[in-house]
Amino acid sequence: MPKISKILIANRGEIALRIVRACAEVGITSVAVFSDADRTALHVRAADEAYPIGPAPSRDSYLRVDKILEVARKSGADAIHPGYGFLAENADFAQAVIDAGLIWIGPPPAAMRLLGDKLTARHTAQAAGVPTVPGSDVAVDDLDQAVAAAERIGYPVLIKASAGGGGKGMRVVRSKDELEAALRTAQSEAQSSFGSGVVYFEKYLEHVRHVEIQILADSHGNAVHLGERECSIQRRHQKLIEESPSPVVDADLRARMGSVAVAAALAAHYTSAGTVEFLLDKDRNFYFLEVNTRLQVEHPVTEWVTGIDIVLEQFRVAEGKPLSITQDDVEVRGHAIECRIAAEDPFNNFAPSLGTIASLAEPGGPGVRVDSSMYRGGKVSIYYDPMIAKLIVWAPTREHAMTRMRRALEEYGVRGIQTNIPFHLAVLGDAAFQEGRIDTGFVEEFMATGWLTQKDAHDKELERTAAYLGALVVDQKRLAGGALGRQSQPVNGTGPVHDGSKWRVAGRREAMR
Ligand code: ADP
Repeated sequence: MPKISKILIANRGEIALRIVRACAEVGITSVAVFSDADRTALHVRAADEAYPIGPAPSRDSYLRVDKILEVARKSGADAIHPGYGFLAENADFAQAVIDAGLIWIGPPPAAMRLLGDKLTARHTAQAAGVPTVPGSDVAVDDLDQAVAAAERIGYPVLIKASAGGGGKGMRVVRSKDELEAALRTAQSEAQSSFGSGVVYFEKYLEHVRHVEIQILADSHGNAVHLGERECSIQRRHQKLIEESPSPVVDADLRARMGSVAVAAALAAHYTSAGTVEFLLDKDRNFYFLEVNTRLQVEHPVTEWVTGIDIVLEQFRVAEGKPLSITQDDVEVRGHAIECRIAAEDPFNNFAPSLGTIASLAEPGGPGVRVDSSMYRGGKVSIYYDPMIAKLIVWAPTREHAMTRMRRALEEYGVRGIQTNIPFHLAVLGDAAFQEGRIDTGFVEEFMATGWLTQKDAHDKELERTAAYLGALVVDQKRLAGGALGRQSQPVNGTGPVHDGSKWRVAGRREAMR
């Protein structure tokens, strides 16, 4: 059985750091790669070794298969973990890694091909008896086919790129008049974004939840599911808040969705970690959406409620070992929530917020996990995804997890760029969210309530960051100037003073400036 001793991580940001940390815990040497923009990045500093792979744009660095394989050779790495995004779902890359004599920490390329394409994934799921969203089942090439398919399925329909991902390349069509233009744009967008213009139709389901099942499978025929994640809080089909368990999934539904997900994986001869995504309607019918053949952004919520380290299981499976757990070992305990922290300005239609992180105070305390690529002096550039951190909390109940998340978000101080933290705070404070009354249309409806334009939303945010940064971050300049020193000097000859209130006031003024 091959033992992995050195892993090259073909990624950046928080997920690269997550994998570096896993390596460190099991005595595996980690190798980071970095673009010119990431010289001082946390994943580079944390890894045992780091190698430059080119200029900032991803196509010149993190997407360069040749350079990554070259570093693997040079560094003597024996395995490659792709993280998520970039090359993670690229079956040709996986095959190239294997052909280079290295261990690919992911599913077999054939399974990636089968499940990575939405149409062939649908066929595979259907053959395994998995219910799918009603749809066209074949590519829709021209207007005649489109009209016939839409009429059969019933409006509204969703045009989807078979090779699509990341919430991109989808178009809702509500009537026949919109069909022709929508089909053309969808096809050309699919071609330019994914290199394939193949599109198909699904019934557009409204007021549904996105509920997905985490699975793990090994090369000995063992496959388990780790319960579900509720990911209905999305903006433009991209997830913002995820939680486990779902507020509406009980043990019976979990077992049914889980066994269906495992059946789909086994049908594709899948191994490693993967996610089977479903839409769940009000009557608790669930419909297969797609499979993500990689580690997911939101994997930590599942890790927390099950106590299973998904990355370490990936390492085991890649080494040819059996999973360390059976289905009977999987128990969902308590409640975990994740907020994706992005450098986006919620007060300005979520426009990207670029710049340098001037100050940073990260939350801590009981039940808080921060998976982040942020550091003081770090730059948020146009080159990469705006998601720069994930804040995850765990508590025994959903109610407590929500108050804990609000507490942790309140503690999160970032200065220099605008983040979406105030948006998360507002959602966590929303009654419908608190009652678990959510679906994939939640964010759109929530934005329509106009919370952003509420007179004091912006002021509150300034006050919040100022309070935490003022109180928790020692600004180097002020320190040099003696501000902190003065605070801790005896005042009026009464002995040492730790005047919290004065310090907070002083800090707030500084941070508000
Ligand atoms: P991607 O691979 O781009 O992420 P998915 O198929 O996973 O695309 O869908 C992303 C999101 O789009 C889902 O979570 C859901 O909110 C929405 N969506 C996808 N298909 C449908 C559908 N048939 N009806 C309603 N919403 C859908």
